[in-house]
Formats: sequence, structure tokens, C-alpha cells
Amino acid sequence: MVCQTIKTGTECIFMGKNGCNYNGGSCYPIVEECQGCDRVVEYPAGLYCNTYSEPQLKWLNGGCSLATHLKKTQNNNNSKKINPLKASKRNSARK
Ligand code: SF4
Repeated sequence: MVCQTIKTGTECIFMGKNGCNYNGGSCYPIVEECQGCDRVVEYPAGLYCNTYSEPQLKWLNGGCSLATHLKKTQNNNNSKKINPLKASKRNSARK
């Protein structure tokens, strides 16, 4: 249904006939870590994420997986992943 609380006018799975069914009855504003993310939308009630209802929860375990303002770190060490089974076969073939 269409949200009638915070993100008015947007389609939301938590909206029901009796109002918002999300924890506490509404979405929660963005947290400091969200600053700069393209998914932040300004509503009359403040800044909210257009994807998640409670951004704080996305940052509890290391970071939000949909954040657009973070660069993904690449594994720059040049070690290749080695399949232990293939390595074992390779070693036994050499003997
Ligand atoms: S996608 Fe993640 S980082 Fe971006 S606003 Fe939403 S919760 Fe915050």
C-alpha cells in the first residue's frame, strides 16, 4: 500500500489498512554513516533511506550493503585462491 506516515506517496510493504506495521509504526531516519548515500531522500519529516526502514540496523554489522557512497575495497594482495583438493592432486602427480 501507499505510505501515509513518513514517506507519503511511496509504495511500501509495511503499510496496511490500519497504518504502518513496521516496528514502532514508522520508518526511522538515516544515521550519520548514511550521509552522502544516493538513497537518502528528504521528506517533510526529515532524511530517510528510500530502501530500508531502519538504516541504523544496516550499519550494526560492518556497513550497509547498498550504500552508494562507499567504495568497495579490493583484495590487493596478489595471492591466488588455491583449491586444496586440486593442489593435493597436483602435488601427487609431480611425485
Ligand atoms: S542504502 Fe544504506 S547507506 Fe544508503 S541511506 Fe539506506 S541505509 Fe543508509
